Amino acid sequence: MRISYTECPVCQHKNLTPFLVCKDYTVSGENFEISYCHHCQTGFTQNVPDQESIGIYYKSAQYISHTDTKKGLVNQLYHFARNFMLSSKQQLVSQHTGLQQGTLLDIGSGTGYFLDMMKRKNWQVTGIEADEDAQAFAQKNFGISVFSPPKLSELPEKQFDAITLWHVLEHLHDLHGAWAHCSRLLKDAGILFIAVPNHQSPDAAHYQAQWAAYDVPRHLWHFSPASLDFLAEKHGFQIIRKKIMPFDPFYIALLSEKYKGSSLGLLAGAWHGGIALLKGLANVNRSSSVIYVLKKK
Ligand SMILES: [Zn+2]
Repeated sequence: MRISYTECPVCQHKNLTPFLVCKDYTVSGENFEISYCHHCQTGFTQNVPDQESIGIYYKSAQYISHTDTKKGLVNQLYHFARNFMLSSKQQLVSQHTGLQQGTLLDIGSGTGYFLDMMKRKNWQVTGIEADEDAQAFAQKNFGISVFSPPKLSELPEKQFDAITLWHVLEHLHDLHGAWAHCSRLLKDAGILFIAVPNHQSPDAAHYQAQWAAYDVPRHLWHFSPASLDFLAEKHGFQIIRKKIMPFDPFYIALLSEKYKGSSLGLLAGAWHGGIALLKGLANVNRSSSVIYVLKKK
């Protein structure tokens, strides 16, 4: 089944405009239209496969290679950046919760690297992940039990000091349900961390339909800082900080150059990634990806 929207699925406004037509470069080669809502400044992928049928769009050797091979410069950079970011995320969680150890829920925990990092720092960790291979990887390599998404409804309320969604929210069909789970499961003084790409970044403007972070149809939602303001308000949260992700502009630019078929991919990617990083540093609302730190109102 496919899903088409006639009103904005984020804020319910009926005034939608066509935004871009993007190609799925990693799996199917299919085109998907993105519509845009000017009221909440969110884009969303139209005619998108529903939760039951989107699985095949995640099946790609390339998609897996980003998580586990170390071949090639792009993957080596990716591994360096991942280690840096794991440690920076851990510090961010400790800083904003004010805790050196506590309870953490990572939604969309993937292969479990972040959970492992937090567990090593003596946090009590719980992971939620839809992909069974990734669940098994976390169990086998880190001894961490990761649950399937329905488990979210079974967890008792207000038990987490921190909930994290690192580049996950844009993949979730039940967008408002995800926020409701976070609201229910977080302690009153708990902190929510959400990292998502920002289509209002200069690299998105530069690469247009070939901007790698559109990643249709896997990315259902294309957020901006205004989208996050709207969603936070709707679900009883407030944004207390926004932070850039310093490696994302490079990674996104390198992939975008590849999608363009650029002959100077690496150089052009490094150049445009550098410009995007500087613009993000100057104004976080223009950063390629943003980490939003939120607390309950
Ligand atoms: Zn809207």
